[in-house]
Amino acid sequence: AAGAVAPYRVVLLGASGVGKSLLARLLCGMDEEQDTDVVSDDTYERTLMVSGEEATLQVLEGYQQNDGEDETLVQSEDVCIIVYSIAERASFERAVDMHAQVRSTDSGENLPVVLVGNKSDLVRSREVSLEEGRDRASALDCKFIETSAALQHNVRELLEGLVRQLRPRGAVG
Ligand code: GDP
Repeated sequence: AAGAVAPYRVVLLGASGVGKSLLARLLCGMDEEQDTDVVSDDTYERTLMVSGEEATLQVLEGYQQNDGEDETLVQSEDVCIIVYSIAERASFERAVDMHAQVRSTDSGENLPVVLVGNKSDLVRSREVSLEEGRDRASALDCKFIETSAALQHNVRELLEGLVRQLRPRGAVG
């Protein structure tokens, strides 16, 4: 039954200003005719089907800890999205650092990670090419997608990719 399965947690990490809040809201369907629960300022929920079971997806914008701490707080059941802006090389470098941080923790060692190049609409200010993002992700063994949260481009594809990364769980309690 609904609610019997612990929520799946998706944690968004990335430099400030890359679009995490907007992506979190879109991933939870704030733009759709969909019941989105705003759990707190930085956590959103939606209900969806995972492997034929109704499940709750919780999207957190990081853990809002001190700088550099978020990456060390991932839990082994999380799925991690690391976001950068294709128009800001420094945010790409930050994303790569964050990935290394996540992987260096016990719980982050084997976590599914999706590297997301957001703001793909900013074609004239692009500083990180599609190929570079994709190559880096494949070297780091992450999934990769470019999105434009502003134009809602590829956000649905990102969500579908995430759902495929979720490992079905037994009911709790
Ligand atoms: P956060 O600090 O990572 O949570 O970033 P926000 O979600 O607050 O977004 C920072 C700014 O970037 C806001 O002004 C957003 O409207 C803008 N923004 C977010 N996504 C996109 C995008 O895909 N394209 C463009 N052009 N702007 C975006």
